[in-house]
Amino acid sequence: MSIISKDISKAVALLNNEELVAIPTETVYGLAGNIYSKTAITSIFTTKQRPLFNPLIVHIPSIHHLDTIVSAIPEKATQLARAFWPGSLTLVLPKKDTIPDIITAGKTTVAVRVPNHPLTLELLKQLEFPLAAPSANPFNRISPTTAQHVDAYFKDAIQMVLDGGACKNGIESTIVGFENNEPVIYRLGSISVEDIEAIVGPITIKNKKENNPEAPGMLDKHYAPTTPTVLSHDILETLTKYPNKRVGILAFKEQLKNDKVTHQITVSKIGDLVEATSKLYEALHQLDHLNLDVIIAEIFPDYGLGKSINDRLQRAAHAS
Ligand code: AMP
Ligand code: MG
Repeated sequence: MSIISKDISKAVALLNNEELVAIPTETVYGLAGNIYSKTAITSIFTTKQRPLFNPLIVHIPSIHHLDTIVSAIPEKATQLARAFWPGSLTLVLPKKDTIPDIITAGKTTVAVRVPNHPLTLELLKQLEFPLAAPSANPFNRISPTTAQHVDAYFKDAIQMVLDGGACKNGIESTIVGFENNEPVIYRLGSISVEDIEAIVGPITIKNKKENNPEAPGMLDKHYAPTTPTVLSHDILETLTKYPNKRVGILAFKEQLKNDKVTHQITVSKIGDLVEATSKLYEALHQLDHLNLDVIIAEIFPDYGLGKSINDRLQRAAHAS
């Protein structure tokens, strides 16, 4: 078991010593290390069993640190950073030579963001280096949204989880790269497409690995529960395909009435997509621990954060 604590000075000491600390952010918990320490970064990859072709996101304390990481900033990148930082937007920009190749999986671009969590912002301010912090889950598993999720995954393989409570947004950041200085969404996430378009106008989405070699980590099988998961527009209808099975239901706003349904989680009774997003992974973690035969997840409305939720549910179902 790792230490679960709010003690920033202990986290600083461990990170200065090239060790890893799991950190809270408003998206999901990250497994953090000094971007300039080969020891720390190597241990991020081995602890997560993450393949080396999958680059890491660099976390900085404020927009003023951006030019220590990247070598060029398109106008629309500045607009997006001003609009959303600190926050759940990751920008992919040309990297400075000083950024180690292991961070970027050999690419000439680097992913960077300013997270919006008071403990982690304070931690970043006290450190003399940025933090690389991929989600604190073993490769391909559901991302952690509480300190307890992290501890359940890694036990004493990591020394400390900085405890910042449950993550407010609950899914990963939205990743935006640039092609010919125009923004492109590489990963749907905590900030909706509509909110980004309000700043920079209509935007291309390339979040499938088939059409995007630029975002190497976007695997189909990702963010997955170990329980087989199927998606449905009509849960009661889909239920009839699983007689005599132990079925879990993940619903948006409805509470289904059916004798056969024993395990059901409704993520937002008031039908609010922000609330639904924040509870999505916690619901999947819970259902995944019940030893069910199958999880039936409702397909969400395809706008706003519903698009991001559907993206994650499709990846979860793809693994099944
Ligand atoms: P995670 O931190 O686990 O949420 O995953 C980080 C994701 O960021 C990776 O899976 C990539 O899809 C993306 N990413 C990181 N660096 C780059 C980069 N230089 N270019 C494109 N995508 C990147
Ligand atoms: Mg991840």
